Amino acid sequence: MSPTTLKIILTGHANLEAVGNAIKNARLYRYVPKPWQSEDLKLTVVEALHSYLQDQKLVEQRIQLEELNKQLEILTRDQAKIIAERTAKLEKANAKLKKANQELEQLAILDPLLQIANRRRFNEYLLKEWERLCRERRYLALIFADLDYFKQYNDEYQHQAGDHCLIAVSKTIQRSLRRPADLLARFGGEELVIVLPNTNPEGAIKVAERIQEEIALLKIPHSRSQVSDYVTISMGITAMIPIKGCSPSTLINIADKALYQAKNQGRNRFVLEVI
Ligand code: GH3
Ligand code: MG
Ligand code: MG
Repeated sequence: MSPTTLKIILTGHANLEAVGNAIKNARLYRYVPKPWQSEDLKLTVVEALHSYLQDQKLVEQRIQLEELNKQLEILTRDQAKIIAERTAKLEKANAKLKKANQELEQLAILDPLLQIANRRRFNEYLLKEWERLCRERRYLALIFADLDYFKQYNDEYQHQAGDHCLIAVSKTIQRSLRRPADLLARFGGEELVIVLPNTNPEGAIKVAERIQEEIALLKIPHSRSQVSDYVTISMGITAMIPIKGCSPSTLINIADKALYQAKNQGRNRFVLEVI
């Protein structure tokens, strides 16, 4: 017998317990005691048919629902995959953008030839350190460095060799700086500038001596220099505890004056000037 068949039993036994057991055990739809009324029986059969059809409908609907559920699961899985792919793409694009931004930021503060801070970065940094050391009442030192007879160097070895010489000198100075807060920048042309926070005049002199020794070790030939057979630099040094009401240009002017003196006194040397 099909499990979905509805059973109606017609019987002469009519005690309540027997009816209950029969319905429970045989899973009867209905129990009709004898003698039955034919109208009654007809109604019961029609009712059973209704119930049967309704059950069938429910089964079909459940099957449809399960099918829909399956499709929904597939769609959700596909959607999750698409979202994951898009998120990965977005993250990649974001990382690219971040890198491009960082490069742009670097470009804005880097000198393209020497790959050190440019004048703009120097100005910003000097002002920041000036204000900080003014509050902390500590020394700020500045060194201006300029290549000696560099015009003649370019004339003798050509401009491109001049560029390489400038790069070598800048790298050497950079190597001579020990503290992370020390900043080497291109002030303009072949003039470099070094910001030395927390550095007194004696400390700045030590840095200048180290730079001069390192440049001498480079031994870049300079046949048209009037002071050496090799490339040399002159330096103007100053150091002071920043004063309220003054600006970093005070420091720049003094260091520049000191550099001028170093040139005047014969080049390949440094001069310290303080106020
Ligand atoms: P001094 O000893 O007095 O400093 O003499 P100098 O010839 O070096 O004179 P000055 O500092 O006035 O000359 C600067 C020269 O530096 C001018 C220019 O030919 C050269 N120069 C400036 N910037 C660059 C650069 O980026 N590359 C090259 N190759 N040369 C540069
Ligand atoms: Mg020069
Ligand atoms: Mg110069």
